[in-house]
Amino acid sequence: MKDYKALTQQYEIDVYPRRDVVLVKGKDARLWDDNGKEYIDLAAGISVANIGHSNEKVVDAISKQAATLITCANTFYNDTKALFLEKLFSVAPANLTRAFLTNSGTEAVEAAIKFARAVTKKTKFIATMKGFHGRTYGALSATYKKEYRDIFEPLVPGFSFAPYNNFEKLSELVDDGTAGIILEPVQGEGGINIGQKEYFQKVRKLCDEKNILLIIDEIQTGFCRTGKMFAIEHLGIEADMMTLAKSIAGGFPMGALLCSDKIQIEKGKHGSTFGGNPLACAAGIASIDFMLENKLWEQAEAKGKYFREKLEQHTLSKMRELRQIGLMIGIELKDKSHPVIIELLEKGIVTLPAGTTVLRLLPPLVISYEDLDTAIEKLVEVLK
Ligand SMILES: *Cc1c(COP(=O)(O)O)cnc(C)c1O
Repeated sequence: MKDYKALTQQYEIDVYPRRDVVLVKGKDARLWDDNGKEYIDLAAGISVANIGHSNEKVVDAISKQAATLITCANTFYNDTKALFLEKLFSVAPANLTRAFLTNSGTEAVEAAIKFARAVTKKTKFIATMKGFHGRTYGALSATYKKEYRDIFEPLVPGFSFAPYNNFEKLSELVDDGTAGIILEPVQGEGGINIGQKEYFQKVRKLCDEKNILLIIDEIQTGFCRTGKMFAIEHLGIEADMMTLAKSIAGGFPMGALLCSDKIQIEKGKHGSTFGGNPLACAAGIASIDFMLENKLWEQAEAKGKYFREKLEQHTLSKMRELRQIGLMIGIELKDKSHPVIIELLEKGIVTLPAGTTVLRLLPPLVISYEDLDTAIEKLVEVLK
């Protein structure tokens, strides 16, 4: 057997903090490593595999599309893309009417920033402290964490940051040059910080008054994760643009920027070679169909509630606070999360960090109650 770790270490730019496991297979909420060890997945590849790993519908759709047409230049129409767009807008908020399709989340954010500048003819943006929007220059400029930014500066000018859920501080940053405000409905990377309805409603009103575009980043919260198809449904507001990616196509790389009618861009001003390619679109149709057929948002809601109630029956000395919305769960610890993550991995449970002290759980929404019980049992062993 080849030494996969050594090969990766030899040839891949070493930007990722690495777990000492080679994953080779997945099915629903289970993963397997190259020694045949089985894991319960509470990460879903960072909220990507919401419909489970290697979902049968997606596997079939990709296989059929691959045998038919893999690639198609965006200068041509394509049947699968048309059907994907129809499917996407059957579940999207009603005021969002058209999309720009991408291959990743950061590209969707990048498009939002470019479009906001083009439409408003203004250049400044407000984002939030602890917010995360991606790694390319525009999206990185909207991302708060110093360690992601420092060696790449200078970034795109005009970005400023307000504390999350603090309307006063945000409104102080607004001026005549503000083109857009970008917010996550729940901060994911930033530690599972849940957005307050009143805050978002005030921001929406401010945006209307000042001709500012409100960009809602649903890349992590989107597609049933928080107990609704999109987390914005909890907030009772409309976005001018909404970014999607991660779970949009059952694990196949894809992203989308959804736009309201305010967003009008001239032909030829933006584009992508692979964005909205037939394979991604086929996977996306299958993925959204699966969510609808299984009312996956209801499953996320019920399972999240179940998880919270079960975990709260125990006294966990290492836990400071539990934050949960649907199956988007943050366990704030009194100490660093890294040793806990490693201990859980040894016990066959895959989890994620969010910052240094938060244990982040984003399981596939199809996870069985039996697997949830096992995961809770192991969490209690490690956190008690
Ligand atoms: C993951 C993520 C992104 C970036 O998506 P990529 O596909 O990694 O570029 C942007 N915003 C949020 C909220 C995310 O969780």
